[in-house]
Amino acid sequence: MARTPVLIVGGGPVGLALAGELGWRGIACTLIEQGDGTIVTPKMNEVNIRTMEFCRRWGIADAVHACPFPPDYPLDVAFVTSLSGHELGRMPRPPRASQRPEPHSPMRLQVCSQMWFDPILQRFARSFPHVGLRYRTRLESFEATGNSVTAEVVDLASGRRERIAADYLVGCDGADSGVRRALGIGLDGKTLGHPVHLYFRAPNLLEICGRKPTTFFMTVDRGGAWSNVRVIDPANAMWRLMVLDAGAGLMPATIDREGLLRRALGRPLEVEWLGTSVWTRRTVVADRYGDGRVFLAGDAVHQLSPTGALGMNTGIGDAVDLGWKLAATLDGWGGEHLLAAYDAERRPVGARNVRMSGEFYGAHGKLGGELAHIEDDDARGDAVRRRIGETLVRGVGRMFRTVGLQVGYRYEESPICVPDGTPPERDDPEAFVPSTRPGARAPHAWLADGRSTLDLFGRGFVLLRLGMDAPDAFGFAAAAAARRVPLEVVSVSEPEVAELYRRRLVLVRPDGHVAWRGDAVPDDPQEVIDRVRGAGL
Ligand SMILES: Cc1cc2nc3c(=O)[nH]c(=O)nc-3n(C[C@H](O)[C@H](O)[C@H](O)COP(=O)(O)OP(=O)(O)OC[C@H]3O[C@@H](n4cnc5c(N)ncnc54)[C@H](O)[C@@H]3O)c2cc1C
Repeated sequence: MARTPVLIVGGGPVGLALAGELGWRGIACTLIEQGDGTIVTPKMNEVNIRTMEFCRRWGIADAVHACPFPPDYPLDVAFVTSLSGHELGRMPRPPRASQRPEPHSPMRLQVCSQMWFDPILQRFARSFPHVGLRYRTRLESFEATGNSVTAEVVDLASGRRERIAADYLVGCDGADSGVRRALGIGLDGKTLGHPVHLYFRAPNLLEICGRKPTTFFMTVDRGGAWSNVRVIDPANAMWRLMVLDAGAGLMPATIDREGLLRRALGRPLEVEWLGTSVWTRRTVVADRYGDGRVFLAGDAVHQLSPTGALGMNTGIGDAVDLGWKLAATLDGWGGEHLLAAYDAERRPVGARNVRMSGEFYGAHGKLGGELAHIEDDDARGDAVRRRIGETLVRGVGRMFRTVGLQVGYRYEESPICVPDGTPPERDDPEAFVPSTRPGARAPHAWLADGRSTLDLFGRGFVLLRLGMDAPDAFGFAAAAAARRVPLEVVSVSEPEVAELYRRRLVLVRPDGHVAWRGDAVPDDPQEVIDRVRGAGL
């Protein structure tokens, strides 16, 4: 029987990110994916700031930047009655090439369709000889015992069945997760609708409709906010029309594509149809993120309305959180409670992001009672459009102002972060307040040598000594060495960084979150080290 330390089920972006993260940490793993890796109808387009920070750590940020989405293409959002109709409002979002540096991060949100992003993650995972990716291989069943998991898998090309033994199994198998169902884990939340995606190629679409380059058009007509049209690949004129809710039970073959496109564009247009998908918009989160040696991540445990572009990004946060904990446990320095902290840390983040994405979707239905006049070509129509446009930018527009959601999540109730009694910063989706309060993502600041503070984190724990009079960290170093916890002590003398970090000593975990902070080494540094490695809780 084949053996692997970690068996990952599902080769979507979350499974691939976990395989890459484990590979990067030197942990052998095997990923099985029932498909062949081809993406016919790409869903995700926005790789957010936090995911780009992980890409920077993994050394693949340049590859994401170099994806075919043109760096000089405006990322604007326009609210229109149709693409040929009236413009109600616009949210300028400059092209990446001319964006100002982000004060809170060395990275920016990057538009990169899943059809380019997944292969980048795939190449990253494959770059490690100890990571195996097996496509056209499906998990049939698994059995977990106290000290291992045995999976039965089938090679879909040959039909050959095989058993694989693993120390841990992680279900990254998407919304319809068989691993979740086998564990009897339920989902809590609701269904919001049944959208339809129509993919098409239309060279000169913008010119024909009289529009300047814009990434995302939201269409609002007498029927209300009903669809959006998004450019996926400008160089190849690939677009996607999403009908927000087409009702239950629709079959792709019977969809009136031409009619829907005519309503969105405000004119007929012959296009090359590339694909259709019908899906269910849900806001749900799982009751538990795993059971014993089996864990779940990504859409398997949280399904978000895409409003806010948080689905995959939340799942990649899961992969990074679980990745270092699995690595620490397999390497022998993680304590017996470390893996249980995955649920305690990530499930509240999943619930928060699910709630916010549902709230963003809800804003589409709150446009007031004047829609009947939105297309009128008269003064009243102008006034109605102005008012609805402002409402749209203020309300629906929130889903594009999410820096706080992207980088401001923190692990409030974590059993492996040491609270210091200070109150939490406000969790504002639109604003980010940097903080070194335990559980928060350690803040970004530029160092004198041109690196970001974030570049210091990743492999093991890092104890930052901040300022010229930071205490000696010998006690911490000895306590970490006693438990074989990888710990690097880094002295930072830049006064701005010391001021931002607020304490003279800040202990940062391998995932870049703060585990402990203080102005002096505690009386018992061993107790702190044991707690943050998930032992002796
Ligand atoms: C319209 C739309 C736009 C979106 N835009 C964004 C965005 O801009 N940003 C963002 O962050 N998110 C976005 N999302 C969400 C994002 O696409 C998903 O959250 C993400 O794809 C989930 O990744 P995953 O790896 O968890 O699951 P999936 O991508 O669903 O992958 C699961 C994989 O598991 C495989 N699998 C299942 N069962 C088995 C089995 N038994 N054996 C082997 N393999 C199996 C499947 O074949 C599949 O490949 C969007 C979603 C939609 C619908």
